[in-house]
Order: sequence, then C-alpha cells, then structure tokens
Amino acid sequence: KRGILIRKGEAIQTMKEVKIIVFDKTGTITKGKPEVIDIKTFNKTSEKELLLISASLEKLSEHPIAKAIVNKANLKTYKKVTGFKILRGRGLEGKIGKDSIVIGNQTLMKEKKIDFSKTKKVIEQFEDEGKTTMIVVENKMVLGAIAVADSLKEDSKEAIFLLNKKGYRTVMITGDNERTAKAIAKQVGIKEIIANVLPEDKAKKVEELQKRSFVAFVGDGINDAPALKQSNVGIAMGTGTDIAIESGDIVLARGSLIGALQAIN
Ligand code: ADP
Ligand code: MG
Repeated sequence: KRGILIRKGEAIQTMKEVKIIVFDKTGTITKGKPEVIDIKTFNKTSEKELLLISASLEKLSEHPIAKAIVNKANLKTYKKVTGFKILRGRGLEGKIGKDSIVIGNQTLMKEKKIDFSKTKKVIEQFEDEGKTTMIVVENKMVLGAIAVADSLKEDSKEAIFLLNKKGYRTVMITGDNERTAKAIAKQVGIKEIIANVLPEDKAKKVEELQKRSFVAFVGDGINDAPALKQSNVGIAMGTGTDIAIESGDIVLARGSLIGALQAIN
C-alpha cells in the first residue's frame, strides 16, 4: 500500500544491523530537476553569448544540468560543435569553430589549468546558497558562471529528521562540490557529507564506511547502482533509472524518502 517493494527477504534481517544510511543527493534528496537561477558574466561577455555557447555544447549532454542550461537558453539554432567530449563527473568540452570551450566545475578548471580566481567569490556565494555552479571557458578565458538550483523533495527533511532521531548516522554523498553539498545537507539536517565523488567511486566510499558498521544506501542514478549493490541494504528510488532499481534490495515506488523511513520501520 505504501509503494514499498522488498525484493530480497534478506534485507529485512540485515536492516536490523544497519547503523549508517548514505543518501545520494541529486534525484534522491533533491528532485533532480535543476533550473538555472543565476548567471554571471566576465570579460565583456554578454549573457546571451554565454548561453548560446553553453547551450550549444550542453545540448549534446543528457545530464540534468545540461537540460537546465539548454532550457534557459531557449534557442532555435545552436552553434556547431566539434570534438565534443563528456568529462564524467566534472563537465564537458568541445570546439566552436576554432575556439576551445570547457564547461564544468572547479575540479575540471584545475585539471585544465584555467585561472578562475576572478570568479571564485561569485561561485562561493552561489554554492553557499546551495546552487551548483558551472564555469564556462573559451580559450582558457572565463566567460561566465552559471548557477543551477535543484529543490528538495517535499518530505526529505522530515524523513531525515526522523531517521536521525531514531539514532541512524545519516550521510550525504554527491559528485557535487563541498560547499553546495554542505548547504543542501544543512537544509535537510544531514551533518556528514562526502562531496566531489566521481561516479565510479561511490561504491568505494560505501565500502570504507562498512569498516565501521552495516550501511544502507539510498539512490536513484546509473552511477548509484554499484553503491546500491555494495551496501548491506540497497534502497532504490522507483522513480530512478532501471539499473538502480534492479540493484536495490528495496524499491520505493513513490521515490520519496519517507518511504525509506517506512521501509526501515
Ligand atoms: P551528481 O552527484 O550531482 O549526480 P555528477 O557526478 O553527475 O553529480 O556531476 C558532478 C559535477 O560535474 C556537477 O555538479 C557539475 O559541476 C559537473 N557536471 C556534470 N555534468 C555536467 C555538464 N553537462 N555540464 C557542466 N558541468 C557538469
Ligand atoms: Mg542521483
């Protein structure tokens, strides 16, 4: 009746031993449908130009952030992009004519040796507000920063409050940066975060926590599947990707965190 599917009976027994519950951020705690909220341009770039360049590359990506940027740009025609590459968990790159474009997070900027010191203050402010900020670069020069926000699911806060109250150690894991992660965690009442995690490393982080106790993992994405398998009890959002659902011991059809609490109870 509550939309809780227990796929493995073993999960019922194992759950008793679980002390740590790890939550994926995007699509699990938050709705997973980010929207562009703030734009800041640098080096005489216009907002229109910034969005045209960004959307032309992001149009080639399936990431929710990409969709947010393309929606915001709201264009009929795009620039032709060559040499397009997705840089998993960091951003993307490609060429428009002779110009090399890089769009992504600070990790990517450091990796590409791009000086983004001028933008740092703006970015930190956005991140402290819980927004994920992408830096847009053309030929090593910063054109601007685009901040997206992803709202919390309605009952995330209540569910985490009640799980904390029951004595579970709640942890949030994300590919997003530390500041944004902290801001979101604070909004829902999670004290512990693991940020800047590359998609392939989520399972490894779960394994590290398992050295201390049994771990339940709650997630929805393709990149959560290995962590759902690695954890002692994998709880998948029924609204998530097929591969996550297949990897879960428990599936929450309604895709809300109150379901996780009910399943545990
Ligand atoms: P999440 O845990 O939110 O699913 P991902 O591993 O998918 O995180 O992405 C981590 C970070 O990489 C994002 O927060 C963003 O900064 C950057 N990123 C990912 N995809 C894109 C994209 N299409 N354009 C720009 N930046 C991106
Ligand atoms: Mg997710």
